[in-house]
Amino acid sequence: MQLTIRNLSKTYANGVKALQDVSLDIPTGMYGLLGPNGAGKSTLMRTLATLQDADSGSATLGDIDVLRDKESVRRTLGYLPQEFGVYPRLSAVEMLDHLAVLKGIPRGERKAVVSALLQRVNLWDVRNKSVSSYSGGMRQRFGIAQALLGDPKLIIVDEPTAGLDPGERNRFYNLLSEIGENVIVILSTHIVEDVKELCPNMAIINQGRVLYAGTPDAALLDLQGKVWKKAIQKTELEALQAAYGNRLISNKLIAGKPVVHVLSDGDPGEGFQATEAGLEEVFFKHINAV
Ligand code: ADP
Repeated sequence: MQLTIRNLSKTYANGVKALQDVSLDIPTGMYGLLGPNGAGKSTLMRTLATLQDADSGSATLGDIDVLRDKESVRRTLGYLPQEFGVYPRLSAVEMLDHLAVLKGIPRGERKAVVSALLQRVNLWDVRNKSVSSYSGGMRQRFGIAQALLGDPKLIIVDEPTAGLDPGERNRFYNLLSEIGENVIVILSTHIVEDVKELCPNMAIINQGRVLYAGTPDAALLDLQGKVWKKAIQKTELEALQAAYGNRLISNKLIAGKPVVHVLSDGDPGEGFQATEAGLEEVFFKHINAV
């Protein structure tokens, strides 16, 4: 099964071009959709999840026309939105059972399905506690359990790790990486590490456009020998920004000291040292349109 997106465009009533001619081929496995806030990720995810319409273009999942045959998509879709509401007093078991009813899972199978999912996402011990009392990480794992109801072939998770602490994030990564090999999982995120840890295929989008689509490795190869770093004084930053412009791709503090990364085909001299390109550099390179 493959999800094929062709020339998808969407302009909101206020004139914002959230998607501009987006074409992607998304195979089974984890697919990372990486972009800064406002890039158009949620617009794309919501369109694929049949929650809103595009202006033009197409999307097909296997032989399903995603934009027209919404009922068929919904039968095979698991969706974890950025924010999902929970009923205040319902326990995880009650809420998942309720969602299973809505998904059309037959009464005779519901109990076993709900139990198996709660075990799978490691919430079995707290299954009778109210979901609204869960930590961020537990809530996201519950979100995955509900997204897995009904054995979906397409799973969409929108910014799932925002707000999780490092331990919770790791548990969530492990859970996502275990989700079937025969399903398409689209992980939309602005966090480079999410993609680095999990996704054999990825795209980078910004301002509604696809800037890169391919493997993380190919993107890294493209930058080999071109990333240079230097520890600087804070007072030097302005001059470097003026000198390098968009090619100054990151400026971060390491142990309180500023370290800049620049893109350069050859050795820039001036105390710069060659450094390994990471996915973060790939991201900044594309976002800065270098
Ligand atoms: P992301 O998920 O990558 O943060 P979004 O798809 O939410 O991006 O937003 C893309 C752009 O569209 C942003 O500029 C956002 O402000 C705008 N946008 C999103 N939803 C709406 C809407 N309902 N009406 C108008 N503009 C919107």
